[in-house]
Amino acid sequence: VAALAVENLSKVYGNGFEALKGITLEVAKGDFFALLGPNGAGKSTTLGIVSGLVQKSSGSAYVMGHDVNGDAFQARRSLGVVPQEFNFNQFEKVYDIVVTQAGYFGLKPSEARANAEELLKALDLWEKRDTPSRMLSGGMKRRLMIARALVHKPDVLILDEPTAGVDIELRRSMWEFMEDLNKKGTTIILTTHYLEEAEQLCRNIAIINKGEIVQCTSKRELLSQL
Ligand code: ADP
Ligand code: ADP
Repeated sequence: VAALAVENLSKVYGNGFEALKGITLEVAKGDFFALLGPNGAGKSTTLGIVSGLVQKSSGSAYVMGHDVNGDAFQARRSLGVVPQEFNFNQFEKVYDIVVTQAGYFGLKPSEARANAEELLKALDLWEKRDTPSRMLSGGMKRRLMIARALVHKPDVLILDEPTAGVDIELRRSMWEFMEDLNKKGTTIILTTHYLEEAEQLCRNIAIINKGEIVQCTSKRELLSQL
């Protein structure tokens, strides 16, 4: 099965705005995939539907073969999601935030603790484990979003504009972290409006504009046209 299969997906928001006009996409297991497009193109809407945060209007979306509506829990469990906005409990401590998330997916407490420790160390947050999230810098919060998204060891990691507003040093270390994770087998799907980010990281790229896929191709193919 594909990591992600989206067919003829459309979204009309409550105010009547048609944000997605029937898009079709497939992301293979193990891929590093970018959904590239300008602000307002429909990138977040697409990922929102795939993550179960936005209700689709029509069409279908499957994560690792699980229907995001029909089999929502299995679909969600196959995914790690890193939204654009920080949405932590401000007062909860770093370590607890990551362990609590594991609980939602039914991990055993011992497994949750082991995974949290491994991730917080890998993301250079272990020293901050007892710090409430509101005391963290922006860069630390970004890394915490990633640790939380990965604690249940999902097959697919989805990131919405992961490095928007991030300084160059953190961007490079996040890129390196994502590349390592992908090499170990995690499928990665990100949205970006930076061609450079897609170019640096991804094997396959879909370009979306005004709710439509304009092009979906390998990076090599795309760059040869520029
Ligand atoms: P739905 O039809 O999917 O329920 P709504 O139209 O009710 O979505 O809007 C959901 C939320 O998004 C509301 O809080 C609304 O204020 C906000 N929202 C409305 N318009 C926009 C927009 N153009 N961009 C981002 N958020 C918006
Ligand atoms: P992107 O992530 O590519 O910037 P989005 O998926 O966030 O694009 O938004 C696509 C379009 O849908 C934009 O024009 C945005 O204003 C609109 N939009 C997003 N959320 C809502 C909402 N809740 N209600 C109405 N319009 C929305």
